[in-house]
Amino acid sequence: MTETIFSKIIRREIPADIVYEDNLCLAFRDVNPQAPVHVLVIPKEPIAKLSDAESNHHALMGHLLLTVKRVAEQLELKNGYRVVINCGEDGGQTVDHLHLHILAGRSLGWPPG
Ligand code: ADP
Repeated sequence: MTETIFSKIIRREIPADIVYEDNLCLAFRDVNPQAPVHVLVIPKEPIAKLSDAESNHHALMGHLLLTVKRVAEQLELKNGYRVVINCGEDGGQTVDHLHLHILAGRSLGWPPG
């Protein structure tokens, strides 16, 4: 069980700008946005990182991706968006609670640094 700042957001112990919630996941705006729109989608289950996901998380992983689509529609990201999962140290992950970044609102460069 990982206890991170995201667990506190799920429990409403610290504030966040929540844009979507259901029984499995939460989506909220990133506090340090890297694009005009920067939202994080997280599972309520505290999976530390993508590489910790197990076969029993199959449906949850699909749900997270479909939640990205749902949030993108809700926020009217008609011009497109990018979805990023940083995994582990070399992936640049700093919060040990699986999260999908949704980045939008400007033309994004590739490849990432
Ligand atoms: P990085 O910090 O390099 O982007 P991650 O992929 O682990 O690595 O992303 C963690 C994200 O969580 C960061 O974009 C950071 O701005 C965001 N973040 C950290 N604390 C909060 C918070 N309290 N509310 C919203 N977003 C947060």
